[in-house]
Amino acid sequence: MTPPKHGRRAATPSPVRPTSARRSDFVAGIMSRLTRTGGSRPAGVSLRPVLSVIAMSFAGAMMVATSVPALAITATDTVARASVYAPAEDTIELAPQTVEVGSDGIMSTLAAEQYDVAAAPPPIVSQVASVGSVSLIDTGAVVWPVLTPEKRSGGYGPRSAPCSGCSTFHDGVDFTPGNGTPVMSIADGVVVLATENGGGLGVNVEVQHNVGGELVTSSYAHMQFGSIAVSVGQQVSAGQQLGVVGTTGQSTGPHLHLEMFGTDGARFDGFAWLSARVG
Ligand SMILES: [Zn+2]
Repeated sequence: MTPPKHGRRAATPSPVRPTSARRSDFVAGIMSRLTRTGGSRPAGVSLRPVLSVIAMSFAGAMMVATSVPALAITATDTVARASVYAPAEDTIELAPQTVEVGSDGIMSTLAAEQYDVAAAPPPIVSQVASVGSVSLIDTGAVVWPVLTPEKRSGGYGPRSAPCSGCSTFHDGVDFTPGNGTPVMSIADGVVVLATENGGGLGVNVEVQHNVGGELVTSSYAHMQFGSIAVSVGQQVSAGQQLGVVGTTGQSTGPHLHLEMFGTDGARFDGFAWLSARVG
């Protein structure tokens, strides 16, 4: 064996590992080619960088081959590419975002105006003494004025006078839920009367309502002194307490005398009216 001329690699056979015969053959070929042209290679230059560059080139080729999807290279059908790379949800979400503006903008405006008229009828404007104009908003929510409306001592209509001076025509309905029990507004409305000097009606509150576009007034009589919980002009809601059951005025026992009337002031059967509307 001749003494080494260029570095230790040229002096000893390449330390080929037995794990890959093909690779060792390749490396040996490179080595022998470099060795043959070793005369032009400057002294002291190692083969290691050259081999490293070759190895990195192989590694890069492997990465390209495994990281690029096959369809990205080979497929030419655009529909197939979309079905593979785009979730179906993405495609569906795009559809509602499409806005078509046509020449029917005026029709949309007319529809909105018609909706407003149907949904918000004009309120009834009522004149209340010492308060002025009050606005009554339409409401359909109607409730009983007492908790136990099934307890009654008299209905609307002709009757024999229960006391001297009492009318032979009963223009209200008498509820008997018990002395001191709550008396409540039958619907949303505005208090138009609240007095403890109601004559035969005793302690009396009146509330005006707009029920289905009709102005209706409810009158609650014979309540206890000092129990009135509202004042004239106050907005009240259906079921809101106005006072408690008593026997003030022309009364023979604790009860709520409820009268109801419209704009003409004529009394009507409040029990029948409530029975038809209370849910
Ligand atoms: Zn009565």
